[in-house]
Amino acid sequence: MTKNERPLRCQRCRRVFIRPNATGCIPRYCSDRCRSASYRSRTSTPTTPPHYDAAAVRLTRAVLNKAQAMAHRSQHPVPALPLEILQICVALRRDLEDTTAVALRQALAHGATWKEITEVIPAAESTLKSHCSVDKVNKMLRDRVQRGPARPRQPAAPTRQPGAVSCLVGEWAASPTGRVSALSRAVLPAAGQ
Ligand SMILES: [Zn+2]
Repeated sequence: MTKNERPLRCQRCRRVFIRPNATGCIPRYCSDRCRSASYRSRTSTPTTPPHYDAAAVRLTRAVLNKAQAMAHRSQHPVPALPLEILQICVALRRDLEDTTAVALRQALAHGATWKEITEVIPAAESTLKSHCSVDKVNKMLRDRVQRGPARPRQPAAPTRQPGAVSCLVGEWAASPTGRVSALSRAVLPAAGQ
């Protein structure tokens, strides 16, 4: 058996092949197809699942702000604003749903399986796959950016109705260093009204 007749093994598909030409370099692949495939796999960047770390930070802060606002309002109830805690609850629930969807995508990105996820969230795998798809989570995050944070109403608005609901959450979130004054402006009846 000469050197040229010795069987070679394709480095891509591991098939044994015979060198087609007696001259030139010893081929490493059995075919053009295997050579191209090997080149592609060496040069293409692996597709990694998208991560949502920044979104998780934003969302959990939003949840924290609302929870703090609720705690504060529970300690200092304002009878003139009977709907306020309820409103924060509704906003908080939406934030929690969004946070859950992002946490699910993060769990997947970090290697959790759908089966493991359904052991944590009591829902059908197909439901979760549909509701928390990459497309839907990305759209939710885009929509949140477009909505922006809950904006405080102008505290000094002269047309404030008695009993109107203040935007406590927005004030709280927008002014972490001036919470008390912002809260006071938001919830106390303006002087002279
Ligand atoms: Zn091959």
